[in-house]
Amino acid sequence: MKEGGQAGGRRTDGRKGQDAGRRGAGSGAQRALDPAPLMHPGPDPSNPLHAQPIQFIGSFPDPQVRVDPELPEIAFIGRSNVGKSSLLNALVGRPGLARVSGSPGKTTLLNFYRLPGFYLVDLPGYGFARASKGARAGYRKLVTGYLRSRSRLTGVVWLLDIRHPPSEHDVEMQQLLAESGRPALAVLTKADKLTRSALPVRVRELAEALGLHQDQIEVTSSHSGLGVPELASSIVAAAAGENT
Ligand code: GDP
Repeated sequence: MKEGGQAGGRRTDGRKGQDAGRRGAGSGAQRALDPAPLMHPGPDPSNPLHAQPIQFIGSFPDPQVRVDPELPEIAFIGRSNVGKSSLLNALVGRPGLARVSGSPGKTTLLNFYRLPGFYLVDLPGYGFARASKGARAGYRKLVTGYLRSRSRLTGVVWLLDIRHPPSEHDVEMQQLLAESGRPALAVLTKADKLTRSALPVRVRELAEALGLHQDQIEVTSSHSGLGVPELASSIVAAAAGENT
């Protein structure tokens, strides 16, 4: 999978502060109504996924489910509450596509979304504190089954919360990913929670903790848009088989 390095693409709509000079002038002059505050930012031309149609195919319990047509698959995986649904929504520019939840740990299914050239596959979140032993074993079986059996699995986007050191579940997942031999990209979420100066320090610390080079990590925030177009480009390249 393409390794994105340090992502810097903060998304702006270019309208902020547009009328700042005119506001409050008290001149009584006629002003045009500004629709900007009422409008959704809309598609980002730097994000190659925003221009593509996307369709929810279904939720499946069987990792060997057959999907028609067969296309490359890019999987998303991470700890419950890591921000996976929010990032998926930001990547494709559809705020309501994947359900953002305040109560993690409920999903045990693989959610398939179809784009013209590939599927995005949302794997259930792991590490839910109240999960039973049986549920954990079932989860492991689902994920290992998925990683082993999908002949068109082209890349795995592995999400980690930038604020936390890797948990024992993250370490276990890293091992499963390494054993699977699938191309993977580590993606840090919720970067907006850190200050600009804390960010590079944290990325260095996490890279060290994970035994990865900093180029193997992408930094994102679905709230600010940081790194989202860059990750979208990495995904498109991976789906097209342009792994480097
Ligand atoms: P999931 O369980 O991994 O799918 O995570 P969700 O997308 O449902 O997000 C879990 C919580 O984290 C929600 O309260 C989100 O609003 C919050 N969240 C997700 N992404 C971000 C982000 O980029 N920045 C911040 N500050 N919060 C986020």
